[in-house]
Amino acid sequence: MKATCPNCDGDGTIDCEECGGAATEECPTCEGEGVNSKGKPCDECDGEGGTDCQACDGLGNQDCETCHGSGEVEESEEKAEKDSSETVK
Ligand SMILES: [Zn+2]
Ligand SMILES: [Zn+2]
Ligand SMILES: [Zn+2]
Repeated sequence: MKATCPNCDGDGTIDCEECGGAATEECPTCEGEGVNSKGKPCDECDGEGGTDCQACDGLGNQDCETCHGSGEVEESEEKAEKDSSETVK
């Protein structure tokens, strides 16, 4: 039994948790200003004020961990039975 992955709604990818899908991170050196304390373009980000998010390589999304990018998950009936039998008083 296959079911649509509830984590990504079948997309297979989710917005990157680190950058929220923006794909860039605010440069920590210039705090997003793009210039350093001397008024020069920041060396770290080449004056852009941000760098590619390292968590998602600048893509803005990541493979869904729940379905590993397939968008589908295996529906296990065995697990449901096991869960109900675990209810102990
Ligand atoms: Zn990211
Ligand atoms: Zn910078
Ligand atoms: Zn998923």
